[in-house]
Amino acid sequence: MNSKNIIMRFGFHISIAGGFPRVIPRALRTGCETMQIFSGNPRAWKKKPFNPEEAQNFQEALSQTSIAPLFIHAPYLLNLASPSEELYTRSIDCLVDELNKAYRLGARSVIVHVGNKLRLKEPEALDRVARAINLAFRRANNSIQLLLENTAGQGTEIGFKFSQLKTIVDQVDEKERIGICLDTAHAFEAGYDLSTSTGLNQMMDEFDTLLGLDRLKALHLNDSRTSFGSRVDRHWHIGKGEIGLSGFLHIVNHPALIHLPGIMETPRKEDADDLRNMEIMRSLIR
Ligand SMILES: [Zn+2]
Ligand SMILES: [Zn+2]
Repeated sequence: MNSKNIIMRFGFHISIAGGFPRVIPRALRTGCETMQIFSGNPRAWKKKPFNPEEAQNFQEALSQTSIAPLFIHAPYLLNLASPSEELYTRSIDCLVDELNKAYRLGARSVIVHVGNKLRLKEPEALDRVARAINLAFRRANNSIQLLLENTAGQGTEIGFKFSQLKTIVDQVDEKERIGICLDTAHAFEAGYDLSTSTGLNQMMDEFDTLLGLDRLKALHLNDSRTSFGSRVDRHWHIGKGEIGLSGFLHIVNHPALIHLPGIMETPRKEDADDLRNMEIMRSLIR
């Protein structure tokens, strides 16, 4: 155990299938100390109306557990860089909605993928993301944080380089509301070799120089099924992918990371998959 006796808190992305009352028992069954959920169907624009009473009950039930913090992952359809005015507006509306739902569910922050530039040039796409965030913050009537998640750089995805994240963060008006969620698989696939201690330290130095380590608020702990720099996003079981056990050993014990909540978004067919990943993760703590 490290000197300050702080150890990383682990959790999973938990399914909301069957409704919110099913979420907490699922999280407890797999040993979550923190967790992430969707606020609704992540692949549909049209959402079932949000039941305030259900959200209140969920928040109360969550407070009875030691699971914290709770993260809301924004839907996949949302693209804050969209060149289509219609989809851009819809994405901003959706983000406002997510921030408000996060507040009602008792979450600390919403995690969003930076977006896809499609036919736009990179600087214009990054500007659009920043403008979307500023508009959404002005409309959402709470102080929920938004965490930008680094991407693998697949297809026309932006936000796979820390310099791109910096360009966005620099333009956000309400700096205290913006942070970063670092996905280990995405970073590795995008060309940050965090499978070695040297590579991890280099990545952390670059992050600190460009963004400041204070901006880093959460980790997505996923191994990568694809090779270093592949720019192809495939999550894999902890220790079974290209980052490997020794990679995660350094990550979960890194002095600048141990205070962060670590969410696994590893493949899952049954509880046994999550239980195995959790056991492996905990076994790495020194
Ligand atoms: Zn992720
Ligand atoms: Zn991913």
